[in-house]
Amino acid sequence: MSAQALMRSLAERMRATIIAHADELTALDQAIGDGDHGINMSRGFNAIGEQTDAIAALPFGEALRKAGMTLVMKVGGASGPLYGSALMEMGKASAAAPASRDELAGMLAAGISAVKARGKSEAGAKTMLDVMIPVHAAIAAGSDLGGVRAAADAALAATRGMRATKGRAAFLGERSVGHLDPGARSTALLIHAVCDVLEANGVAR
Ligand code: ADP
Ligand code: MG
Repeated sequence: MSAQALMRSLAERMRATIIAHADELTALDQAIGDGDHGINMSRGFNAIGEQTDAIAALPFGEALRKAGMTLVMKVGGASGPLYGSALMEMGKASAAAPASRDELAGMLAAGISAVKARGKSEAGAKTMLDVMIPVHAAIAAGSDLGGVRAAADAALAATRGMRATKGRAAFLGERSVGHLDPGARSTALLIHAVCDVLEANGVAR
């Protein structure tokens, strides 16, 4: 499969899973936020979908940067600039598609640093970072795709017990405990989408 075709598959699979779970993301955000996470994510990934031709034609790093810029520009909520900055920094870190596990881990680390910087947040604040960081650790430790999916699922489940200290959910304080974080859920969905596409194309085991 060509790099372009792979990029298209990734963008389409991510969009499809976000659309399919938009109501669930919104319901999670209704519980501890303002109930727009499904709408924000759908808007962002639909906007990427509309530009798939232009994005897929670019070299890998520039394609990620353009996709990230699209999220920053099209999504009103906090998640757009956060996911957008992550993609943009991942694109800057990897001019070409990662060719090794170390390169993939390095690319993800750049995305995590971007979210930390933009969100002024760290692990344990009950955010998307609480899935991104364990997934990065699983990849760096040599997990296969099944292990990466399992790491994402376990990390998502762990956000239920966390008290939010960043984002809108932080206003709830202790009352944020007992709910999954919406952004952690969308990150887990996106990780599954990437794993599914890589597996279907025999890119990684
Ligand atoms: P908004 O909070 O502006 O309504 P969304 O509902 O689309 O935006 O996204 C909320 C998600 O964004 C949260 O569930 C959390 O995972 C993530 N988030 C919010 N603020 C931060 C932050 N400062 N750092 C990291 N992630 C954050
Ligand atoms: Mg919201």
